[in-house]
Amino acid sequence: MARVYNFSAGPAVLPEEVLKEAADEMLDYGGSGMSVMEMSHRSKTFEKILADAEQDLRDLLEIPDNYKVLFLQGGASQQFAMIPMNLMKNKVVDHILTGQWATKAYKEAKIFGQANVIASSEDKNFTYIPDCSDLPISPDADYVYICENNTIYGTKFKTLPNTKGKDLVADVSSCFLSEPADVSKYAIMYGGVQKNIGPAGVVIVIIREDLITEDTLPGTPTMLKFKTHSDAGSMYNTPPSYGIYICGKVFKWLKSIGGLEEMKRRNIKKAGILYDYLDSSEMFSATVTDPDSRSLMNVPFVTGKPDLDAKFIAEATKAGFVNLKGYRTIGGMRASIYNAMPIEGVEKLVEFMSKFEAENK
Ligand SMILES: *Cc1c(COP(=O)(O)O)cnc(C)c1O
Repeated sequence: MARVYNFSAGPAVLPEEVLKEAADEMLDYGGSGMSVMEMSHRSKTFEKILADAEQDLRDLLEIPDNYKVLFLQGGASQQFAMIPMNLMKNKVVDHILTGQWATKAYKEAKIFGQANVIASSEDKNFTYIPDCSDLPISPDADYVYICENNTIYGTKFKTLPNTKGKDLVADVSSCFLSEPADVSKYAIMYGGVQKNIGPAGVVIVIIREDLITEDTLPGTPTMLKFKTHSDAGSMYNTPPSYGIYICGKVFKWLKSIGGLEEMKRRNIKKAGILYDYLDSSEMFSATVTDPDSRSLMNVPFVTGKPDLDAKFIAEATKAGFVNLKGYRTIGGMRASIYNAMPIEGVEKLVEFMSKFEAENK
């Protein structure tokens, strides 16, 4: 069996240990005689899978007691609407535009009320994180919204914006659990799990309790109220049970390697190997040049010559380094090096890139 090095931005690489365990349990989970996929979500066995997953996530992120953890569906994209429908009491929100996902969330919020752009990095094709130390926060803003790690452009907020006391909502889809985070600084931290945690189909919302109310915008469907899911412990309807089970395994894997401090150490090391090479290469360069804006998870890079980019991607694919093609709006390449990408994957990629550079001078 040949596993490739998968640099996909999502769905993405998962820890091999987790996949093997899931394979072992495929036909008979814990003596139940069935797969988790085949199991009633109301069974004691699944209830424990869900409860353990939540507890392990709480342990990893040290989530305060006044926050709820919800396992939902609809992807991160559904949250672009669900969040304003539940939180836009004054019908005013402030958005920071740092990429495509941030822009999509902003456009969705505009459906429900006044959405202001209070900072943006669009002037330089989203290659940096704007200074957010003194923003023109709207006095009646319900919250300030960011996309913390910009999957497509490869940037990340290294410090959270100064929201001047307003609630902060963050899409952390592509940096979820990549390092420790102080949950108490967020009103909502949410993400689709298919980038850094598990299979597509689960979105995790960590939300401060006082924001969960009946007071949603008129017409908000039952399924789009946080209260519905919070009251039912993420079991109002059938949850994405197999996905939650895999997420739970990834949480245990993270605990087993030493938690988020250790994960951060590894991620800094991995990204450092790639950025160091890109900064010294005469052929390849990172599209994000400001070190304070660089993502540890998604690293876009280019040669500056579309033909050479295409040749590189084709040869890399043949050599077992797959899904390196960059997003269509920036072109070039992108290596997504999420938690589960082993360090050897990045070392070998850099080795391959140096060889390619030498051969294609
Ligand atoms: C992938 C991604 C999304 C969209 O996620 P879906 O689950 O496909 O809706 C949103 N935000 C960020 C930061 C992403 O990386």
